[in-house]
Amino acid sequence: MKPLTPELRRQLAARVNFYRELGIYDLYRQGGRAETPADVLPVLGLPAAELESIRRDLGECTRCRLHQGRSNLVFGDGNPRADLMFVGEGPGADEDAQGLPFVGRAGQLLNNMISAMGLRREDVYIANVVKCRPPANRTPEKDECDTCSPFLMRQIAAVQPRAIVALGATAARTLLGISDSLGALRNRSYDFTPPAYQGQPIKLFVTYHPAYLLRDPNQKKEAWKDLQQAMKYLGISLPQPMPTR
Ligand code: SF4
Repeated sequence: MKPLTPELRRQLAARVNFYRELGIYDLYRQGGRAETPADVLPVLGLPAAELESIRRDLGECTRCRLHQGRSNLVFGDGNPRADLMFVGEGPGADEDAQGLPFVGRAGQLLNNMISAMGLRREDVYIANVVKCRPPANRTPEKDECDTCSPFLMRQIAAVQPRAIVALGATAARTLLGISDSLGALRNRSYDFTPPAYQGQPIKLFVTYHPAYLLRDPNQKKEAWKDLQQAMKYLGISLPQPMPTR
């Protein structure tokens, strides 16, 4: 192995510091050697670094009209290496205030659903189709979804989950590029491949949005069936009743 020159040592230190700023501490030398800074890559951190890069690319986004009413852009939250990703529609008032997805009442129900699956919220990754709150919580317009969703697609490609659960018709339609009703979209799985994604197709399931389940709790049993399909695919066997609160 060649000795490290002072300049290469400086460049490597800068790169390692950059990863540490991203919260990435597990690094390895590609091929057992470090002859350029590019030879040093994070083992656990590539998805986190990619997510950080996507967030930087969004910046203080004004690409669609939804930026006008936002307090905080809501990027996403959770484990960058999650096997399971939830995709919702867009932020509501609580999410807009805190800058995090699914933190209001619907978020509490989603947390309960995740617990019922035998998982913790920090095990999964959660993002929305649009990152800014639509006025009065209206459904995002198609052009708003089309403008924002490339960033969601990049998030999915970064996380590389084994399965996605689309929460509600807007998420399902945006991901699948079809305009069927939620009833027609449920009760089956899809092989989903984000644009320019190199990996295996991701198994996609569709269920009700938690906000809808708050309005119509009778559908929780149906949602639980959808989640159990995802659990079966992921090899999670924890049959528990759907939370009633
Ligand atoms: S919703 Fe998406 S595209 Fe529109 S302003 Fe917000 S971040 Fe940008």
